[in-house]
This record gives sequence, C-alpha cells and structure tokens, in this order.
Amino acid sequence: MTAAILLQRAGYEPVVYEQASHISRIGAGINLWPNSTRILKALGFENELQKIGTTPEKWLNCEWDTGRVYFRQPAEEWLEHYGAPHLILHRGDLQQYMINALKPGTILYSKSLSGLAEKADRIQMTFRDGTTEEADIVIGADGINSVVRETLLGPEPPKYTGNVAYRGVFPSSLLGDYKLRSDAGKYWSDDRHPAQEDRHFIFYYLTNAKDEIYFVTGSPDPNWNGGANPVDVEMSEIKECYRGFHEDVQRIIDACPKATKWPLLTRDPLPLWSRGRIVLLGDACHPMKPHMGQGAGMAIEDAVILVRCIAAAENDYAGAFELYKANRIDRATRVQTISNINIWLRYPTDPTWCFGYDAMSIPLQSVNGRSFATKTYAELELAV
Ligand SMILES: Cc1cc2nc3c(=O)[nH]c(=O)nc-3n(C[C@H](O)[C@H](O)[C@H](O)COP(=O)(O)OP(=O)(O)OC[C@H]3O[C@@H](n4cnc5c(N)ncnc54)[C@H](O)[C@@H]3O)c2cc1C
Repeated sequence: MTAAILLQRAGYEPVVYEQASHISRIGAGINLWPNSTRILKALGFENELQKIGTTPEKWLNCEWDTGRVYFRQPAEEWLEHYGAPHLILHRGDLQQYMINALKPGTILYSKSLSGLAEKADRIQMTFRDGTTEEADIVIGADGINSVVRETLLGPEPPKYTGNVAYRGVFPSSLLGDYKLRSDAGKYWSDDRHPAQEDRHFIFYYLTNAKDEIYFVTGSPDPNWNGGANPVDVEMSEIKECYRGFHEDVQRIIDACPKATKWPLLTRDPLPLWSRGRIVLLGDACHPMKPHMGQGAGMAIEDAVILVRCIAAAENDYAGAFELYKANRIDRATRVQTISNINIWLRYPTDPTWCFGYDAMSIPLQSVNGRSFATKTYAELELAV
C-alpha cells in the first residue's frame, strides 16, 4: 500500500491487485516505531493517525510473574530524539487510512495472482479468476506465501518456527473495575519459568480513549497443524499457556471473550530479491518472527527505498532493483535476525540504529561501481 501511495505521488500509475474481496477489520493491533512513523509523517498522515491510534504513555517490559520492571520505554524522549512517535493502531484502521490515501480505483479486489510471465518489455499477470493483465513492472508485496517469490525461486513453504501468536481484541470495559498498572507492556518469561522456553505476553490499548484493548503473544506450540492460516482458539488454552504470569495478564485473558491463534512462520534470507522487471518487498522478501514489531515497518521502509531507486534508474528496472537490494539487504537481515531471537527492548536499549533510520533521505549507496542520480523522496515529489 505504501509503495502504491509513494509511486502515485511520484507520478507513476500503480495498480494494486488484492486477492481479498474487501479489507476487513481483523482482530489485531500494530506498532509503528519512529523509523516508519517518520515516513507516514512526511506523507502528511501523522495527525490523522494520531487520532485513530494512540501512543502508549507507559509501556513496561516486565518479568513474567512478579511484574518487576526491566525497562520502561521512554516514549516522550524517543519522540523528541527521533522526531516521530511510537504509534499503535488497529490494523484495519491503518489499512483503511492507507486505502483512502490512494486515488479511487487504484486497488482492484478479488484479484488473486496465480502466475507471472516475463515478456520482452512487459510482465503478464494471470489471476485465479482466469483474467490476465500486463504491467511494466511487478512489485511482489504479497506476504509470506508470495506467489511472486515462488515465480522467482520456486515453490517452498515457509518454515514453522515452533511458535504461535495468540491474539485478541476486546472492549476494555470488560476488565470491569480492574486497573492495569500500565497502558501497555510486555511480560517476558525467563529461566525460572517451568517450561524453560521463550514465551511472552504483550498488551496495549488501541485508541486514545482506551476503549479497546489488544493482546498478542509469542508462545511455543509443538502441536501446530502445519497450516498457514490462523484458527480460533479456546481461551482456556491461552490461560494454561500463561499460568503463573502476572495478575494483569490473567485479568486480560479472563476478560477477553474470544481469540485467534496464528502460526509464526519465517524463511531464511532469500538469495534473490528480483529478476528483470519483477521485485519483492516486505514479508514476501524478508519475513520474520514479529518480536521487534518491525515487519510492517520494514515493508514501509522498503517501499520508500524502492520508489527512490526506480526513479533514479529511470527505465532500467533491473538496475533499480539491484540498487534497492544493495541498500536494503543488510538492514532487513539485521532486523530479521534480532526479531527472531526476541531480545529487543527487554532491557534498557539504545534503539538509534533502528529508529533513527530515515528511508526518505538516507544517501543511497551505488551498486557494482555504477552511480545513479538518486534523490531524496522529498526531491522526487517536488519534481512531479
Ligand atoms: C502476531 C504478529 C504481530 C505483528 N506485529 C507487528 C507490529 O506490531 N509491527 C509491525 O511492523 N509488524 C508486525 N507484524 C508483522 C507484519 O504484520 C508484517 O510484516 C506485515 O504485514 C508485512 O506486510 P506485507 O505488505 O509485506 O505483507 P502482508 O501484510 O501479508 O500483505 C500481503 C497482501 O497481499 C495479499 N496477497 C497475498 N497473496 C496474494 C495473491 N496471490 N494475489 C493477490 N493478493 C495477494 C494479501 O491478501 C495481503 O493483503 C506482526 C506479525 C504477526 C504475525
């Protein structure tokens, strides 16, 4: 979505082919950190997103059972230092906002891509409804089970990590008179936990009014059925998994009427990000465990760098995609690696390498000794 918005603003004519028949407000929140909210701010979205989402006042990283605080995230200090907020939103609200930022008709729904054919100077897309379309380039932002990735690298299912995420959203009134000790937090297990496995429980309010609360976990599950899609889960299963965790965790689980269970899937870093006029972005390219809350952030950053590279290389798309990969792979791999081991922000951390990155203006490195006339994103928009 971000790539389409940026391309449109830079004077291109993107079309988004989406397999779903519509965007639904699934039960999940999302964290966006200064490295991605800086981009949304530059696009002029910050004020509206602040209204439909929220910034936690007091996010505590805590010991799982006692609630002893390891690290209180300094949201105000980060805002001042990085010039962009830590923002929390309902995913559906963020998606709807981004859709509204596109020209009407940019997204075509119920268009499920089944294959690509590379022609001399065009790409032909085939959809499961039997139709075909052509484009100058195809950006595969089609998630972890990407058909575009499969076209480049062949079929290979993602790897199950042995962990699932339980997720629930519910009206905070269901907590009754119980007062949580903070408006956001992550409870981390340690080697005193009987299971001796990494498990954590995150919760936060989704709105400034604090009327909706969300939780998401990282929980071991050796019995996952192998599917790629989420399933409904009994609350008793979550209760059992988080037995012995802090009172706030117990109260949230008790108050939540229903939840879902999502397999956490990943892939090893891909050897190839593009071929000819086809390129990958986001989870299609570098999926990760969600433990830094940066997967969507990486997709947003990818979009900015990709659009800057396309503009710099003019009609040399293969050159643009090489430049894009050269400028993204180290950062995406670093985030992927740290996400997968789940240590980020547990203890006092200087997040500057992550939050301070500015995809809109970071100078782009040349590739294979070839230099491009790269522009910042602001210069690109001005040129239109
Ligand atoms: C439990 C959990 C919590 C997370 N929390 C955070 C967080 O707090 N912050 C954060 O930044 N990230 C978080 N993430 C990661 C984040 O959700 C992903 O990294 C992000 O959504 C990737 O965006 P994407 O656009 O690459 O792919 P997706 O969001 O997967 O979007 C892919 C789109 O392509 C469509 N599509 C797929 N196949 C086809 C096809 N064949 N034809 C047409 N359309 C197709 C899909 O319907 C979908 O709309 C979390 C992930 C999980 C599992």
